[in-house]
Amino acid sequence: MKLRRTAAAAIAVLALTASATACGGKEGTAGDKPAGTGKSAKLPKYTVAKDVKLDSPTLKKAQKRGKIVIGSKADQPFLGFEDQATQERSGFDVEIAKMLAADLGFSADQIEWETVDSGVRETAISKGKVDFYVGTYTINDERKKQVGFAGPYYKAGADLLVRKDDTSIKGKESVKGKKVCSIVGSTPLQEIKKPEYGAKITELAKYSDCVKQLVDQQVDAVTTDDAILKGFAAQNPKKLKVVGKPFTDEPYGVGLNKDDKVLREAFTKALEKHIKDGTYKKIYDGTLGLSGSEYAAPPALERY
Ligand code: GLU
Repeated sequence: MKLRRTAAAAIAVLALTASATACGGKEGTAGDKPAGTGKSAKLPKYTVAKDVKLDSPTLKKAQKRGKIVIGSKADQPFLGFEDQATQERSGFDVEIAKMLAADLGFSADQIEWETVDSGVRETAISKGKVDFYVGTYTINDERKKQVGFAGPYYKAGADLLVRKDDTSIKGKESVKGKKVCSIVGSTPLQEIKKPEYGAKITELAKYSDCVKQLVDQQVDAVTTDDAILKGFAAQNPKKLKVVGKPFTDEPYGVGLNKDDKVLREAFTKALEKHIKDGTYKKIYDGTLGLSGSEYAAPPALERY
């Protein structure tokens, strides 16, 4: 079974390379099948640290339980994706989370994944439902009142996903009167709701539901981070495209308990180390890089 999956993955990566080349390599596509599984690419192996001693209440709790609980998304191809058949998680955020967990002394099989959608992240983190969270989570001052952030480890920007044959939406200036879907509790939803855009808003809990409405012609566009939208476009390149004009800054952070400064510093150091030693770039190339998001060096880490 395992072997067969590996073979299928190898075929998938071949198909992927072929189609990316066929399109001139600009918009790497993943064919028509749901992709987003980092399985097809070479990903780094993370060294699991031993005897980690930190004065972090979160870590101590996790060490006692012998598992670390990580919050993530499950429906964002190439970022945070769960294969419904195998329950396997893949994507850029999933790999970043595994890398950080290994530095805390937890191997992949000591991770308990918790799917946490955008609207309930602050509650899940502050109530201790998850030990930390990695899921396209924009760092901002409003959220910092409730949670802590390590990062940023990536910079995205809000963009628009439209149907391939739509030539009427060319950027944020052309959404007036259009039906635009976005996600409860997300920053791009707050942005698109501003009266200056004049859009008719549909608010849903999951990105995949917005994308379904777009394909079914119930809405005209989906707005959120370009990195997320490119993943959906790569999954369904015959029907969907990203407009390609980002209009906000969305720096991604690792969410954690607001008062656990020791853990925050440990994550910041780990990110710094793995950006330097090339692990970060390898993760990127094996996940997000496959969906057509071009590599850019991560923004400077913030210490506060
Ligand atoms: N990065 C944005 C946010 O944190 C949008 C993506 C998301 O909902 O996770 O709100």
